[in-house]
Amino acid sequence: MSERELYCDTCEGVELFESPPCADGHGADCPELACTSCGTALLVTTFTVHRARPAGPVRRPAAAPPDRRRAA
Ligand SMILES: [Zn+2]
Ligand SMILES: [Zn+2]
Repeated sequence: MSERELYCDTCEGVELFESPPCADGHGADCPELACTSCGTALLVTTFTVHRARPAGPVRRPAAAPPDRRRAA
C-alpha cells in the first residue's frame, strides 16, 4: 500500500492519501489515491503530461464552388 501526502481540496489542506482497494486491476500502478481524512479520490498521474502543441500551418482545402442546384 502506498501512501503519500497530497493537497486535498475538500479538506483544504495537506492530507495523507492512500491507495484504495483497486477494482480495476491496476495493482501497484493504480493511479487512484483516496484522502484518508474525507475519502475524496484523486487520480495521480506520474507520467509526463503531453502538452497540446500549437497546430502547424493548416492547409486550407481548395475553394470548392458551392453546390448549387440549377433551377429547372
Ligand atoms: Zn486502480
Ligand atoms: Zn480530504
